[in-house]
Amino acid sequence: MATEPKAPAVEEVHILWISEGMSCDGDSVSVTAAGQPGIEDVLLGAIPGLPKVHLHNKVLSPTLGGEEFLAPFRQAAVDQLDAPFVLVIEGSIPNENINGEGYWTSFGNDEATGEPLTLNWWIDRLAPKAWGVVAIGTCATYGGIHAMAGNPTGCMGLADYLGWDFRSAGGLPIVNVPGCPVQPENFMETLTWLLYQAAGLAPVIPLDSQLRPQWLFGKTVHEGCDRAGYYEQGDFAEDYNSVKCLVKVGCWGPVVNCNVPKRGWMAGIGGCPNVGGICIGCTMPGFPDKFMPFMDAPPGAGLSSAVSGVYGPFIRRMRGITNKTVNKEPKWRHNRRQLTTGYSPRWGN
Ligand code: SF4
Ligand code: SF4
Repeated sequence: MATEPKAPAVEEVHILWISEGMSCDGDSVSVTAAGQPGIEDVLLGAIPGLPKVHLHNKVLSPTLGGEEFLAPFRQAAVDQLDAPFVLVIEGSIPNENINGEGYWTSFGNDEATGEPLTLNWWIDRLAPKAWGVVAIGTCATYGGIHAMAGNPTGCMGLADYLGWDFRSAGGLPIVNVPGCPVQPENFMETLTWLLYQAAGLAPVIPLDSQLRPQWLFGKTVHEGCDRAGYYEQGDFAEDYNSVKCLVKVGCWGPVVNCNVPKRGWMAGIGGCPNVGGICIGCTMPGFPDKFMPFMDAPPGAGLSSAVSGVYGPFIRRMRGITNKTVNKEPKWRHNRRQLTTGYSPRWGN
């Protein structure tokens, strides 16, 4: 049986990271908090087996600004870059078909005319040439806050712009790592997988129907929440000054795909509901419109909390009885003159 020719392993790779989408640059900032792995570990070659990585990000890379910074982007646009590249897009993509006489967002200028080069211009040229394309943060993945109802720019996520069936030069779909901002290690772990895949040391990255890494977004916030025990026992917070389940004060955790409560935010610490913040669904394609107004209890919360409010007190009472029992030592632990453990000698005394 004929087998497909194996793609040559990549030994050196550029990361061309454009954060000129509609964004706050929060994802670039967030990534500085990653520890497993840290971005500096990847850049310094501290992780065995990864290709040599050159990062080009206006906040994180060591190159100066201006033309020195833009040079690899310009080279890639005309197929002159010296190694394959991963294109990372941060921020949502405005609709330049409706920009009137101007433009919505740009990245550098045209050398011949001096006119601004739009983000869309760069995506059109770079995405088809990239080995892989990654959308970082909810703005780039699905549009995010800038794309909410009533926005003037008509902005959208990268897959809405390029098409959900887009394939990069490396044969990959867009890889979406949502979050507002992205959880730092969710991004670094995804990037590390892609780099190992480029090096021929990892299988094809598994993505779900929304192009998210399956192992990161396959479970709900609720499934990893420190407060889930309170939910199960029908014990709900009435305000934010409580350690109990936050569903009645607006938490969307039961229906949101996100691993933040399990992973924590920095060095395992934090994770929205774990530390008192309701989940507002910031990783989701329907964010923010479908989760607003944020402080209202989500649909279904009334019913599910009413149902668990009925059986929860009964379960709590039963567990209270069991808890009292297991909080007492067995009666044979004493200092009297008889042995009352139930010991029965097998071979006689
Ligand atoms: S706080 Fe939110 S995620 Fe946590 S148990 Fe309650 S509903 Fe679920
Ligand atoms: S727990 Fe909810 S609000 Fe927090 S990062 Fe995850 S999706 Fe966003």
